[in-house]
Amino acid sequence: MQRRDCFHLAAAGAIGAILPARHLAAQEQAARATRGLPSPIIKDIQVITTQPAGVRLVVVKVITDQDGLYGYGCATFTQRADLVPPAVEKYLKPLLIGQPADRIEDTWQACWNSSYWRNGPVLNNAISGIDEALWDIKGRQANMPVYQLLGGKVREACATYDTVGGMETPEVIDHVRQSMAKGFKHVKVQIGMPGMAVYGPHGGPAAKGLHEGAVFEPGPYMRRTRLMLEDCRKQLGDEIELIHDVHERVSPRQAVQFAKDLEPVRLFYLEDVLSPEDIDYFRLIRQQCATSLAMGELFNSPHEWQPLIAGRMIDYIRVHLSQVGGLSPARKIAILAEQFQVKTAWHGPGDVSPVGHTAQLHLDLASANFGVQEGGVIRGVEAEIFTGCATYKDGFLWASDAPGWGIEVNEELAAKHPFRSDPLNGGWGEIRRYDGSIIQQ
Ligand code: MG
Repeated sequence: MQRRDCFHLAAAGAIGAILPARHLAAQEQAARATRGLPSPIIKDIQVITTQPAGVRLVVVKVITDQDGLYGYGCATFTQRADLVPPAVEKYLKPLLIGQPADRIEDTWQACWNSSYWRNGPVLNNAISGIDEALWDIKGRQANMPVYQLLGGKVREACATYDTVGGMETPEVIDHVRQSMAKGFKHVKVQIGMPGMAVYGPHGGPAAKGLHEGAVFEPGPYMRRTRLMLEDCRKQLGDEIELIHDVHERVSPRQAVQFAKDLEPVRLFYLEDVLSPEDIDYFRLIRQQCATSLAMGELFNSPHEWQPLIAGRMIDYIRVHLSQVGGLSPARKIAILAEQFQVKTAWHGPGDVSPVGHTAQLHLDLASANFGVQEGGVIRGVEAEIFTGCATYKDGFLWASDAPGWGIEVNEELAAKHPFRSDPLNGGWGEIRRYDGSIIQQ
């Protein structure tokens, strides 16, 4: 009986928390109307799903009651892409229809709290879709690009990096030279191992383990990669900035060793040398070498990035904007990181939608502590669906100065490229060590 009473009190409290907000919105609406400044009201929320290239993209469109005023936000979680649309349509849409579209922070807080349990990738992506769409709307309302709303440019354009690989070191070096010829000042380099499922290039007959399937062994990977990186530095000189991604595939002790071994290579940064579950080992790496460290693409919760930034344990924070809930939380992360001399290098491979790439770019343009941007060069059918994306020139991304993100989505063309059939529905398979045990990837 007592528990039931508690439940009813809690339920009443929850309803009470919603009603005043709706009442306030109506009051504000009336007040603004008298000043000739009616708030746009969220009239509809739609989810666009499309797969014009290799990965499944999810983008949210928020439509207001004002003629032609709408916005787009990235909600792409490609490995579980089918789960995000219902999170938007069944849970956020009923919460937000009829609410003002110009209260971005308040809306983010309402969405974040409405599931009670929070900080998961599906729900954070759903929130990101709404959040970034509201920033787009505010920019369109103000007739300004979003970077102006963030304080304006602190740089003209943002450096981006190329990612290359090869099965042998001479091939890797040749590919880096090709990237340099295209103007890139930063290049991520990965080397394959014949028969092994490394992160990056694959090739050769599959290594046979005590199981059927792809094999990866951390020891051989580390030895081969160290030699490749040493050769790259020797043959390419000091001018090119080299990045390497471990993709969390080694043990914490191996990570400490690897970071120490690579110190003479003077990497721009070593990426994801630890998995999120082992981040306290960054303290040991920091104590033993000056190798530059980047981390964060798998983070979803403030408990993951806060200690690394406040403890000065990494050099670059590279969360995936939609995985942390959109532009609003990422902006706060950037500002927090600036206080500790940590720079930003947001996660931006092909599994970020062009809207997400653009949101990152606008944040980069307005952040003093920007480091480098991954990806952002939108080509092919993606560029036909998402028009107005950044232009690339000599290693830099230049944002459009059009209002909001400056992006329009050709929804008809997007619909002609639906998610393709795939045995794992866009999810990743497994990678095992020689003995059959699964390795993080
Ligand atoms: Mg990575």
